Amino acid sequence: MGAIKVHDKSFDIYLSEATIQERIGELAASINRDYAGKRPFFIAVLNGSFMFASDLFKQLTIDAEICFIKLASYKGMKSSGNVVTSIGLDDDIFGKDVIIVEDIVDTGKTLHDFLPKLEHQQPASMRIATLLHKSEATTYPLTLDYVGFDIPNKFVVGYGLDYDGLGRNLKEIYQLAG
Ligand code: 5GP
Repeated sequence: MGAIKVHDKSFDIYLSEATIQERIGELAASINRDYAGKRPFFIAVLNGSFMFASDLFKQLTIDAEICFIKLASYKGMKSSGNVVTSIGLDDDIFGKDVIIVEDIVDTGKTLHDFLPKLEHQQPASMRIATLLHKSEATTYPLTLDYVGFDIPNKFVVGYGLDYDGLGRNLKEIYQLAG
């Protein structure tokens, strides 16, 4: 179980199932404490965050809501770079305490581009929970409120994260070998 192959690449075990679950329990405990008496509204970003969102949500003891969205990038009309739009955010988040749930923050571009869209709807508060953070690779300014693991700048798969479509079903997280 130490090393696996996904498509043509080899990966080494990096975070065990027990390690991941223990850390998620700690994050949930912080959220239960920080949001006591409130009702946070979780927005989980698909595809990669589905396992993390599910396990985190199960550990909550406070009232909470959740929805799942997909982010899609398209080129702006006047070459102003990528514009990020969300699919599936049907709920009005005005006045809500929003917690965005991500699987991994790498450069930070995705969230950095998307946050203004949410802020526009005037939530009461907005925080970010990410299972993984490649802090060495993050160049866009972002405040990450709940971080599972700060990891090196190496490609990872498993626990919802894929390599070219495969590997999402793994219970552990694996790092590209070498
Ligand atoms: P960012 O906009 O922060 O640079 O990129 C975030 C997205 O890049 C993640 O949601 C994920 O889809 C993808 N990503 C970044 N690093 C990895 C990685 O190591 N493995 C996988 N599977 N996806 C990654």
